[in-house]
Amino acid sequence: MSSASPFAIDHLVIVGNGMASHRLIQALAEAPTRPAHITVIGAEAQPAYNRILLSPLLAGEIDPVGLALQNEAWYADHGITLYLDEQVQRLDRKQRHVITTKRTLTYDRLVLATGSRPALPPVPGSTLSGIEGFRTLEDVSRLAAIDPAKGPCIVIGGGLLGLEAAEGLRKRGVEVSVLQRGAHLLNRQLDATAAELLADELNSRGLKLRMNARVSRFESDNEEGRVAAVVLEDGQRLPCQRVIVAMGITPNAELGQAAGLATERAIVVDDTLTTSDPRIHALGECCQFDTHTYGLVEPIWRQVEVLADHLAGRGEARYHEAPTATRLKVSGITLYAFGPTEASEEHEILRYVDGGTGDYRRLLLRNGRIEGAVLYGDTRMGPWYFKLALEHSDISDCRRGLLFGEADASALGDASVGSSALSASNSSTSNSSASTSSSPTPSTSIVEAA
Ligand SMILES: Cc1cc2nc3c(=O)[nH]c(=O)nc-3n(C[C@H](O)[C@H](O)[C@H](O)COP(=O)(O)OP(=O)(O)OC[C@H]3O[C@@H](n4cnc5c(N)ncnc54)[C@H](O)[C@@H]3O)c2cc1C
Repeated sequence: MSSASPFAIDHLVIVGNGMASHRLIQALAEAPTRPAHITVIGAEAQPAYNRILLSPLLAGEIDPVGLALQNEAWYADHGITLYLDEQVQRLDRKQRHVITTKRTLTYDRLVLATGSRPALPPVPGSTLSGIEGFRTLEDVSRLAAIDPAKGPCIVIGGGLLGLEAAEGLRKRGVEVSVLQRGAHLLNRQLDATAAELLADELNSRGLKLRMNARVSRFESDNEEGRVAAVVLEDGQRLPCQRVIVAMGITPNAELGQAAGLATERAIVVDDTLTTSDPRIHALGECCQFDTHTYGLVEPIWRQVEVLADHLAGRGEARYHEAPTATRLKVSGITLYAFGPTEASEEHEILRYVDGGTGDYRRLLLRNGRIEGAVLYGDTRMGPWYFKLALEHSDISDCRRGLLFGEADASALGDASVGSSALSASNSSTSNSSASTSSSPTPSTSIVEAA
């Protein structure tokens, strides 16, 4: 696959008006060599908004206006035609037509930015009403209207999205249980110790957490076909008024697939975000690059830069994978993580545990370089560790100060380690004692704060 040969793009049509689409439009709006006409078709009723902020919105921490990106007037002012509340139903690649619920458009270039939807557990009863996702403003309106008096809710999934949904509902007075398939929460981001600290905090707030909980079916006991209980594989029956599914996402790839584009788990693109049809691009959660699909905005922003470069006629940028760091957006809980969660035999582990404050940091080192980090509590050093990892900085000389922050590490080691890194952290713990122990595989250094 390669990008179509450079030619002026008269009409660019973008399917989807979510976060990827909006970022692309913003990049193109100001570009001097932008396509002459840009049309955007979005299935949701309002222009693109900051989906990330749905979590604090559900928790009642912000107002819906805080989610706004650009209003309809901005699109018009920039000569962009925006059709909202309109679904693209079919593509005709031969005619270069996009067929929506309301019209047929002809494109020179097409971008598919259709995102994804919540994945449903493949068990009986998953289509009962009252089983829903947490993806859109409309979802939040429904979830915010739940009456706590009508009984408990169950969130399926103890990942970032599941915990943010659970906390949001709990803050609205709803009794919430979280079902997690794995042995601990956030098993793709945290090690067992950090997950336990997190679970303790969430338990103390009143969330009920069930680990190793596998759903076998959903049951209804009413004529409306509403969910009334979740039944687990071990036979336990958990009554509920509503189920929120946050166990993963399914890319919205069907439009591309039906049009004959190469599709695996999502719409396959090359490093110019071009699909198997040189006139059609895909980006965001509906696309797949190599074996990767997406669920966070950081890599999507890099995709947008590449695609904007191609659509504005320059055509030199290439997309490549890069590590990403994650955070949880639950107020009062801060965690930051990147890299592998489990140590391999080649890893050295540095750990800092402060039983008093609940602060926890664990670094995975390989050949004197940081490969992964988990920080719970005081996460100020997270971006600095991430930068050191991205730069493959050799931290051998300053490793004894590494867990205490940039200032201590710089004093011990090569000043360039500290000075080249982000100034994200300057915390140091003066009343802590350090002890170093090593075991054959992997070796571990533990710092326990006094
Ligand atoms: C509650 C929540 C919290 C999140 N928090 C974070 C976070 O903290 N950090 C982070 O990095 N990421 C977070 N994410 C993920 C982030 O929001 C997504 O990665 C990002 O929105 C993906 O952008 P996208 O444009 O690919 O998909 P979307 O933003 O979902 O946009 C796709 C749009 O396409 C539309 N569409 C689909 N099919 C059609 C069609 N046939 N015709 C017309 N329109 C169509 C959809 O209606 C949708 O509006 C969060 C997601 C959620 C739901």
